[in-house]
Amino acid sequence: MQQRETVIVLDFGGQYNQLIARRVRECNVYCEIYSYKTDLQVIKEKNPKGIIFTGGPNSVYLENAAACDPEIYTWGVPVLGICYGSQLMMHQLGGKVERAPEREYGKTLVHVNPESKLFQGVNKDTICWMSHNDYISQAAPGFAISAYTDNCPVAAVENAEKGLYAVQFHPEVLHTQEGTKMLHNFVYNVCGCIGDWRMDSFVETTIQALRNKIGDGKVLCALSGGVDSSVAAVMLSKAVGKQLTCVFVDHGLLRKNEAEEVCQVFGPEGNYELNFVCVNARQRFYDKLAGVTEPEKKRKIIGEEFIRVFEEEAKKIGAVDYLVQGTIYPDVVESGVGGESTVIKSHHNVGGLPDYVDFKEIVEPLRDLFKDEVRQAGRELGIPEYLVSRQPFPGPGLAIRIIGDVTPEKIAMVQDADAIWREEIAKAGLDKQVNQYYAALTNMRSVGVMGDERTYDYAIALRAVTTTDFMTAESAEIPWSVLGTVTSRIVNEVKHVNRVLYDCTGKPPATIEFE
Ligand code: GLN
Repeated sequence: MQQRETVIVLDFGGQYNQLIARRVRECNVYCEIYSYKTDLQVIKEKNPKGIIFTGGPNSVYLENAAACDPEIYTWGVPVLGICYGSQLMMHQLGGKVERAPEREYGKTLVHVNPESKLFQGVNKDTICWMSHNDYISQAAPGFAISAYTDNCPVAAVENAEKGLYAVQFHPEVLHTQEGTKMLHNFVYNVCGCIGDWRMDSFVETTIQALRNKIGDGKVLCALSGGVDSSVAAVMLSKAVGKQLTCVFVDHGLLRKNEAEEVCQVFGPEGNYELNFVCVNARQRFYDKLAGVTEPEKKRKIIGEEFIRVFEEEAKKIGAVDYLVQGTIYPDVVESGVGGESTVIKSHHNVGGLPDYVDFKEIVEPLRDLFKDEVRQAGRELGIPEYLVSRQPFPGPGLAIRIIGDVTPEKIAMVQDADAIWREEIAKAGLDKQVNQYYAALTNMRSVGVMGDERTYDYAIALRAVTTTDFMTAESAEIPWSVLGTVTSRIVNEVKHVNRVLYDCTGKPPATIEFE
């Protein structure tokens, strides 16, 4: 791969590390995350145009606080320290950091010096997001103070000559009203980036690189119908066409008509050249799930069965050279490869790697991309919008939106109720404001009356949340009229449902999914 213009985020364990990288990429500059423990030599080899230090939970003045090699300040590449990163820079360069008399948390009015390269075009008084207990009580020698707040005499400092900048607030968080402008200023005005990170060129160069790598090798891809695996599959099909086989396991737990849609787009009638195999494994999954009520057990059964079905299909195809995985950048960071994340999870689209598939190497064409970039790449590739903008959908599918045991009848109920809910949300024009919405079957039955007859039927729960990062979420305020229409449609159109409930709980304390 040719050298891409890169900015590096050095991760000190902050909450918003991925957000910083996303914001930088929104400025058309490629950005990667590395742990603060990464050897400076490794960082140097990446030849970055600039480095950004994240926030972090420690206090810089404590023993064993996260720190980096101070040579980073003299090696000639601009550095922007954010929050903990700003405190660390001051601490290492001879300034003073201590417990603040008054902690700052939340939206805070900051007075900036618009003469600073970092604050070019930024309002003199601007709202920024603060979250700190410590503060810089004294800037390091050679640094000029470029912003302050009522409680914080040093909200930003800089040594412009050396290209060192530090801000106590979080420009990456959207509550910082002009944060993106500041990051833009850093990468363009300070680091001198030209901004060559664009999805159209990414798609083009990746397809070419895949072609070179794969040659006339055979490739196998598990297609789930989700955004990531669809985009990966199309990329591979553009690169090597019929050398690719895509296996779609229909486990019968997808949303209404979704399996049919996937087959239409990727099957022989669709626009793509690939060998598409659809396996109808619905009954197999229903049999395995019969009588199982425990959420974790359901998940496990589905993950394992998925792999078994996939393996059986792969055996029919025989040995392949490459197996495609739809891994994306947050998976890479969260699995501990990049970044300083403490959660170590193994991430695979299909819940694990098949043991018995005969392949030499894994290809992960989306490994460098954030979700919004995957969607953008999908658009560049001409994948239909309804596929590209699909909501997040759990691997175990509707099985975890049905509380208790799963039966084909219950699946049909949830599918129908969910389809009505989604249709009405779209009709009301709410689909762009609400980030995720679906219907679940509560497994609770209660008494009702319909046509003068007593009923004893199920309750459907409607869920709709707004969120920016899916880590936290709020229950969406849906107009009563919309809820009314959906309720009467569901009880009228979906058999064995006589009650509709709306979930008002946020995350935390609830999760977005029910199980
Ligand atoms: N732990 C440091 C403080 O409390 C830094 C916090 C942060 O980076 N958000 O000031």
